[in-house]
Amino acid sequence: MPRFQAPRGTRDLLPAERASLLHLERMALALATRYGYQPIETPLFEQAEVFERGVGQATEVVEKELFRVQAGRGDGDGERWALRPEPTAGICRAYVQHGMQTLPQPVRLTLTGPMFRYDRPQAGRYRQFWQFDVEAIGDPGPAVDAEIIELADRFLRDAGVGETELLLNSIGDAACRPDYVAELVGHYRSHAAELPPAERERLERNPLRLLDSKDPGMAAINATAPRSLDRLCDACAQHFAAVRAHLDALGVRYRLEHRLVRGLDYYTRTAFEFFPRGAEGQQDALGGGGRYDGLIELLGGRPTPGIGFGIGLDRVALALAARGAGGASVEGVPADPVAVVVGADPADTVTRLRIVTELRAAGLTARADLGQRKLARQMEAAARDGAHFAVIGGDELRSGQVIVKDLLAGTQRTVDLPELAHELQRAQAQHRHVPASE
Ligand code: AMP
Repeated sequence: MPRFQAPRGTRDLLPAERASLLHLERMALALATRYGYQPIETPLFEQAEVFERGVGQATEVVEKELFRVQAGRGDGDGERWALRPEPTAGICRAYVQHGMQTLPQPVRLTLTGPMFRYDRPQAGRYRQFWQFDVEAIGDPGPAVDAEIIELADRFLRDAGVGETELLLNSIGDAACRPDYVAELVGHYRSHAAELPPAERERLERNPLRLLDSKDPGMAAINATAPRSLDRLCDACAQHFAAVRAHLDALGVRYRLEHRLVRGLDYYTRTAFEFFPRGAEGQQDALGGGGRYDGLIELLGGRPTPGIGFGIGLDRVALALAARGAGGASVEGVPADPVAVVVGADPADTVTRLRIVTELRAAGLTARADLGQRKLARQMEAAARDGAHFAVIGGDELRSGQVIVKDLLAGTQRTVDLPELAHELQRAQAQHRHVPASE
């Protein structure tokens, strides 16, 4: 085994995997900008307090999974840093810092990038993973809730992950949630003897999370637990009814799931999550999101409503791979070179590099054989590369010419060097318009 390995829970994205992810990232950006969401980038790390406040001290993400960063040589000035476990807190910190409340509201933002959680690695659960994130800050909804959910739904459909199921819930707000949580705690206390020890401990710190516990011992207790949807105040109930009416009008199908509470403290009202149809395990969620009307204030801003989602692109890529989809062709990133420049004189790398540089400058995808092997070996490699043309530098170079061999058609001809790029472009365009069978 090699001495150095990628850290546990991380993985190298080799070219085919990187191309799939790049494809998803580009799709995400194109879709989000079509909906009016503008790209934003925040640092990969923040003051740990941004996440402690924004995500919640009593959540697993902060308690156990926060990837804390040790600044070198004490130049952190006593600051505590952490890698971002999710994008919303950093984006909201930026919203406050840059006074975005003075912009027309809502501010629609999108970000795609790596997130970090110091979690126990397993299939579909990594310590570094990629999220496509969308946030609409400054609109209390309900219409924008539906806009965001429909956008997430469309992304998953456009990506081609197959049938998904959307779970929807409302977890109330500062007016009705405290009473609901108190009732929930009462329910669990009355079953204290039956609670698994880990859940009993969570009851004191984050009782809502017991609802989505995967412990089989919780199923019966949760089946009789009070439901947040039955305890919403009038304002929250109206909001939720309107979100549903908007989703119905858009034809977005969903299932009400009272146990869906999401892991992060700042969520209010609308909560949603997407799963591949038939799979509902914790590692299966493709993405989720919700409303966080209290978050901006927690981070030092004026009270400002917001809603967003994060879709796990690693999970999307896994779902695509499982369906045999998600090939490596990426728009703007050609997989195969159009031309490979080879030469009869193995030592003359100057000429090959000069010719290929000119082709690249003209916008062609090209590679030159820069090793010092014989022409026959160079030609074999060109064919293996899937190149359309081999540009062969031989004796004709003396009269400023090369041979262009069409490796697909098996034909070849002599071309003046100044015409080469143009000639390849023309031949390639022609090929594209003529189906191979003709
Ligand atoms: P969360 O904020 O935990 O709901 O995460 C949003 C989405 O990110 C999830 O639905 C997953 O698709 C993805 N995700 C979360 N944690 C991980 C992880 N450790 N590894 C891979 N994907 C993850």
